[in-house]
Amino acid sequence: MNNNLRLSNRLEKIASFIAEGTTFADIGSDHAYLPCYVCLHDRNAQAIAGEVRKGPFQRAQKTVSHFGLSNQVDVRLGDGLQVLQDCEVASVIIAGMGGSLIKTILDEGSDRLGSVEQIIAQPNIDEQSVRQWLIRHGFTIADETMVEENGYIYEIVIGSNQGGIQELTEKQLLFGPYLLKQKPELFYQKWKHEHDKRARTLEQMKKASVPDDKKITAFTNELTWIEEVLSDDNGYA
Ligand code: SAM
Repeated sequence: MNNNLRLSNRLEKIASFIAEGTTFADIGSDHAYLPCYVCLHDRNAQAIAGEVRKGPFQRAQKTVSHFGLSNQVDVRLGDGLQVLQDCEVASVIIAGMGGSLIKTILDEGSDRLGSVEQIIAQPNIDEQSVRQWLIRHGFTIADETMVEENGYIYEIVIGSNQGGIQELTEKQLLFGPYLLKQKPELFYQKWKHEHDKRARTLEQMKKASVPDDKKITAFTNELTWIEEVLSDDNGYA
């Protein structure tokens, strides 16, 4: 058996939040790299790799068989959390999708979350809708981090039912309560980029034949927030 499975920075960072010996589900697990990596390093871990599309599901099966992990990783074909029986896992990982898809998966499968203590979400965009879902459904934000991969900066949000930050302001929802407090270097990089992108969009909105005043106000407010949170960075122009 070949134990040499290298994960991308992003998946490795996600894996670092999975406690030893946990039973977890990776939903949207094309290739099943994350569950296989965790199970190769932790022989007490048990994983379910859920995939809705047949091609990625077959690729996930292939990885599991390649690493001889069929006793630890169960690959299941199905939509979102529907692949789980109730009370089967303690941790759920949903990574590499948009925030609204993650939210839909959580909404549609909320009846499968009875035993789930931790949700590790890595939305590619729209992180605030994931934070909002977590705090509206009995989870708290227990941690957050950022990771860069191939020129993109990703946020990882850890939801927990064991304690953490429970109530969030609109600003904390947008930036992340922990990220806002810690402001790692990637935070500045991301929000400088977002600032410039949103400023361009705002200019276009203002030029529209029928400007959407509500949207323009919301965008203007967000831009002000971004400028505020970046203002303690001396490099920000
Ligand atoms: N989670 C991996 C990662 O972060 O690298 C794969 C991300 S890939 C971009 C998204 C995967 O999620 C695809 O394989 C897609 O088929 C799967 N997916 C999308 N919607 C899903 C759903 N409702 N249930 C299960 N899998 C889904």
